[in-house]
Amino acid sequence: MSLIKKNSEFHKQMVTWRHHLHKHPELSFKEVMTSDYIASVLESHNIEMHRGLAVTGIVATIHGTKKGKAIGLRADMDALPIQEKNEFSHKSVHDGKMHACGHDGHSTMLLGAAVYLKENNDFAGTVHFIFQPAEEGGGGGRVMVEEGIFDMFPCDAVYGMHNWPGLAEGKFAVHDTAVMAANETLKITIKGKGGHAAMPDQCIDPIVIGAQVITAIQSIVSRSVAPLDSAVVSVTMVDAGFVSNVIPNEMNLMGSLRYFKSEVGDKVKERIKSIAQGICESMGANVEFSSEPNYPATINTPKHAELCAIAASMVVGDKNVLRNEQPTMGSEDFAFLLNALEGAYIWIGNGLVPEDSPKGGCMLHNTRYDFNDEILPIGTSYWVELVRSILK
Ligand SMILES: [Zn+2]
Ligand SMILES: [Zn+2]
Repeated sequence: MSLIKKNSEFHKQMVTWRHHLHKHPELSFKEVMTSDYIASVLESHNIEMHRGLAVTGIVATIHGTKKGKAIGLRADMDALPIQEKNEFSHKSVHDGKMHACGHDGHSTMLLGAAVYLKENNDFAGTVHFIFQPAEEGGGGGRVMVEEGIFDMFPCDAVYGMHNWPGLAEGKFAVHDTAVMAANETLKITIKGKGGHAAMPDQCIDPIVIGAQVITAIQSIVSRSVAPLDSAVVSVTMVDAGFVSNVIPNEMNLMGSLRYFKSEVGDKVKERIKSIAQGICESMGANVEFSSEPNYPATINTPKHAELCAIAASMVVGDKNVLRNEQPTMGSEDFAFLLNALEGAYIWIGNGLVPEDSPKGGCMLHNTRYDFNDEILPIGTSYWVELVRSILK
């Protein structure tokens, strides 16, 4: 049962916070007003906090009435460089920026939990509320860990939560191990020999060679990765040539690699390199291949996933906590926190697909997405139940 009731004064207060954050989105590491707003609410409730980790990060701390362990709860604060297409009154007033991933809702639910637990601190131990910048590609989680967040605020475990469109309102999904994939950026440069389009015999055409490389590396996942392992290789950018009668010197490709196990990622990269080298060599071109790791895989510890599932069932009941959902090949920088500490990251249903319900089903990063205000009390109640069930 939800501790915080729908349509209660507390819920309405949270909606006000959420709409303010949605209206004023800021990009990674630039969440200055967002951080100030969250800090002002924390301050008005006399909640102690530390500011400035990873530029705009906040760590607020609440001690229970009894001594015990310490845990960290994390929400992300940043928005995306997207022009919002919604027309409601809380739509973004910052041109070209939008809370299209629901981090406004994540920050609000965590803020709600901090305010609630400040008044109801009958637990044993300490809670650190982590408001993290730059989840959308900036690696704010990594920066917080590098700047020593868990030395300054030692925690036994850390927990995260993301809203999930397509998962019904009132449901949670808890994965025992893998939740989100690792993500790397791939770069391939094919160096041929440019010249006149009418005299291809005197050129080494990087476009024809590149086309073969693109096609050939599509066989890696089906032929070199074990069928029960997962990986994705997507070529997402192709850049070559500038006019119809010139064969260019070079072709540049970029792409995205996703996987859960590092040995699978290593194997895919080794195969891309060797396929690209083989094709280019046989056709007289040179090739450069590089990969840049972005986020590691987000892997829960089963023990902590269980604790999250117990807390979620206290709010929505056992049957509404899904335990066997597939992980996604998307990625998440909470992985850096989970590499530093044990813990778990769960999904809270934002609503069903738009055909079934007008609310909450619009996909993340879409110009029409909006966090579902109806789930604010559910998410905040989950955080409170998690704290109470672990710190007892
Ligand atoms: Zn996102
Ligand atoms: Zn997100």
